[in-house]
Amino acid sequence: MKLATLQDLYVAELKDLYNAENQLLKALPKMAKAASDPDLAQSFLDHLEETKVQIERLETIFKELELSPKGKTCKAMKGLIEEGSEVMSENADPSVMDAALITAAQRVEHYEMAGYGCVRTFAHILGFDDAADLLQQTLDEEGAANKKLTELAESTINSEAI
Ligand code: FE
Ligand code: ZN
Ligand code: FE
Ligand code: FE
Repeated sequence: MKLATLQDLYVAELKDLYNAENQLLKALPKMAKAASDPDLAQSFLDHLEETKVQIERLETIFKELELSPKGKTCKAMKGLIEEGSEVMSENADPSVMDAALITAAQRVEHYEMAGYGCVRTFAHILGFDDAADLLQQTLDEEGAANKKLTELAESTINSEAI
């Protein structure tokens, strides 16, 4: 049985997130390029920098477990990024494109929030308190990134796209 224990599931979920973050590392610069609103472009670039640190946190957790973070493909993130690419290939008015980029990015953030919330809780129950703290930090960043996107959409971007 590959997933005999909660710790096996914890590791599998962490590998999924590690792969998801690495996919995002490649997608975020493209999203920044596709954005016209300078604040939106900057928020993608800021989150790119946060993503690099999030990957390092996962590497720290895997090092402590003496396991490799590699070996899994996050199919959900692949699909979410594919949808983002699809929208970026559309011939859209720049402000409508910005609104569309936000819808794609918020789906990504919510997926990450769900994943990190689960592994944070698993880390706690398994007694990995340091890992739980690291995962909570990332969860907070994902939440803040999502909130920033909502603020951009509701303050300017959606109304410019009308
Ligand atoms: Fe992330
Ligand atoms: Zn992120
Ligand atoms: Fe996944
Ligand atoms: Fe994120």
